[in-house]
Formats: sequence, structure tokens, C-alpha cells
Amino acid sequence: AGSLTVAELAEKLHKETSELIKKLMGLGVMATKNEALDKASIELIADDYGVKVEEEEIVDPLDIERYEEEDDPANLEERAPVVTIMGHVDHGKTTLLDGIRKTKVTDTEAGGITQHIGAYQVEEGGKRVTFLDTPGHAAFTTMRARGAQATDITILVVAADDGVMPQTVEALNHAKAAEVPIIVAVNKMDKENANPDRVMQELTEYELVPEAWGGETIFVNVSAVKGEGIDELLEMILLVAEVEELKANPEKRAQGTVVEAELDKGRGPVATLLVQGGTMNVGDPIVVGYTHGRIRAMMNDVGRRVKTAGPSTPVEITGLNDVPQAGDQFLVFADEKKAKQIGEGRAVRAKEAQRRQTSRVSLDDLYNQL
Ligand code: GDP
Ligand code: MG
Repeated sequence: AGSLTVAELAEKLHKETSELIKKLMGLGVMATKNEALDKASIELIADDYGVKVEEEEIVDPLDIERYEEEDDPANLEERAPVVTIMGHVDHGKTTLLDGIRKTKVTDTEAGGITQHIGAYQVEEGGKRVTFLDTPGHAAFTTMRARGAQATDITILVVAADDGVMPQTVEALNHAKAAEVPIIVAVNKMDKENANPDRVMQELTEYELVPEAWGGETIFVNVSAVKGEGIDELLEMILLVAEVEELKANPEKRAQGTVVEAELDKGRGPVATLLVQGGTMNVGDPIVVGYTHGRIRAMMNDVGRRVKTAGPSTPVEITGLNDVPQAGDQFLVFADEKKAKQIGEGRAVRAKEAQRRQTSRVSLDDLYNQL
């Protein structure tokens, strides 16, 4: 079921808002002009004016997916895998992410200035791989918690001198629950006390059995500090990606997930978006979580301004009215008015939900005190 506010419905019916409020009163519905009406009330009113309501006209701001364009199978094209790195603290996640980036960034013109936008892309053998570069498990867990599936492959980093630790297990459980394929990177191989066999042995207990032992899990030995094993790791990522047959349709309005977002003093709300389907353009009207706007500028992972961004591409955008949250979904709209209407509707609903949540909590608190 959708909803429109009283004022929005009045506009659609070319009536005065006050007239509608009176009519609603007559029907026993007390509503102010900014109140969202349910589908039944909308139909009742429209019916009263002898107008038939098209389902399309009823806006459900929370149901953003219904505005997505369908994919024509003929338009599906291969896309880069999106990879996250997980593992126990100090096992070398950050070092590995930095190492991959350093050894693989091809855009030398950017002068090696590493622009942190929360994600980056590298190339291996003419194919691209996208890494989500958010600290710790945040990329994976917050996005999952918010219902976003933005990861295709997880690299589980395990230090060869330390072995499987609590957060290793936690990470692999998250990946398994999300049905995301795992590649194990056995790190710190340069250390004297590195024991990769022990890592393999320990992970076997969690059903991650190496291929060498008749299992299906790919293990790659690496040294993040020395940059060793990175080529092989990327090759393995591409191998898994091929098996997964990752595809997307670049020929539609862009849709995807927020990787990170913040308020920049000079530029206002800034968000790194991962385009998952379609192609995004500067100037596109967009709804991002409970925020909206028109894309003012886009910057890629090496700090270069770009005009378009296709599937699996991370891009930093400006032009939103507020700061969205990591894991929020975004969708480009054909016209700005619709994006504004839906964005505002979502914001109102979010506030309402939050208020209800707060009052429920305080009620619970009250009961607890009794
Ligand atoms: P994170 O907590 O998983 O992000 O781990 P970090 O990347 O911050 O690494 C923790 C520590 O391990 C740092 O002191 C790194 O320099 C070190 N480290 C990471 N990778 C390697 C490696 O391949 N070899 C060695 N010897 N040290 C490493
Ligand atoms: Mg780290």
C-alpha cells in the first residue's frame, strides 16, 4: 500500500487542501495537511470526487525498490567483483588493502595521492576488481544489518603466526550467513614463525577445506608488507568472480548502496556510493536512503572528476540535502520532482518511525521501573 500526504493528494485532485481536510473530517478521519494517508483513505476521497486512482500515483516512499527499472536479460553485462576484507584485529587487513592499492593503482597521473573514498578499484590482467575499504567489519556488518548485499567475495585474512582467532570465526560466520564466497589470505608469510599449515588445519574445523586437501576453499599465502602474493590473490578473486557469473545492466537508471558518508565543511553532504546496477551521471536526480538531491559532482577513487559511473564502480558524490548512512540504498530517478517527493516522504516516515521507537522505549523503561 502506498501513501500520499493530504496536501499532495489535494494537488493531484486540483482541490484546496482545506477542502480535503474537511472532507476527511466528514469521513471521520482527522488529518493535518502533512499527514500521510493510507491507500484506503486515498481511494475513498478520490472516489468521492469521481476520480479513479492509478496505483502508480500512490507513492510509497519506503518501498524504493518498486521504482527500480527491470533488467532486460539482453542488457546484462559482466561486472567487476566487489570484495571486502575481514579477519581478526592486527592480522593485516589494512596493510593488505593498502598493499593491493599501492601495487595496483594504474592511474599514475593522480600522482599517487590516495584519495580515501571508502572503496577503490584495481586492474589485473585487463579486468577490474572493486575493494570496499571501510575499517574493520563495518562494510560488511552494517550493510548486512541494513539489508544491503554489496559484497560478492570476502577475503578472510589470517595471520600465519597467530592462526584462527575469535574475530576470524566471527568473520567467516558472517560471510557464510550471507552466502558470500570466502578466499583465505594467509598473511605475514614473511615472519619466521609463520605456520600456514596450522591455519589450514584450524580452518578445516569451520568447513573451509583447502583445495590441496580435497576441499573447495582457495587459500593464498601472502605478505601484505612485502607485497608478496597479491597478484595471485587478485587472480583467484577473478577466478571466483568468473564462477559466480557476476552481471549487471548498465543501461538503466543507477541503483546501489552507500559505502560511507559524512558532512564536509566546504562541500556539504558527501557520500561514497557503490553503483550496483545502471549508470549514474552528473546531474541525475537521486534518492539516497532518507536523503535526496541532484548529483552536483562525482569523483572517482583516485580523486578524478568523472561524469558517469557504471556497475561495480565506487564514486563520491555531492549534491544531497542531508547525510545518508552506510548501507542505505540509493536510486536515480528520471525527474527531480519525483526524487524530491519520495526523498521527503522517506524522511518524514523515518522521523515518525524514530518517534514511535523512542516512545516505545520510554514506555518499556516505565514498565521496567514498576
Ligand atoms: P588490521 O588490524 O587487520 O587492519 O591489521 P594491520 O594491517 O593494522 O596490521 C597489524 C600489524 O601487523 C601492523 O603492525 C602491520 O605492519 C603488521 N603486518 C601486516 N601485514 C604484515 C605482513 O605481511 N608481515 C608482517 N611481518 N607484518 C605485517
Ligand atoms: Mg585495520
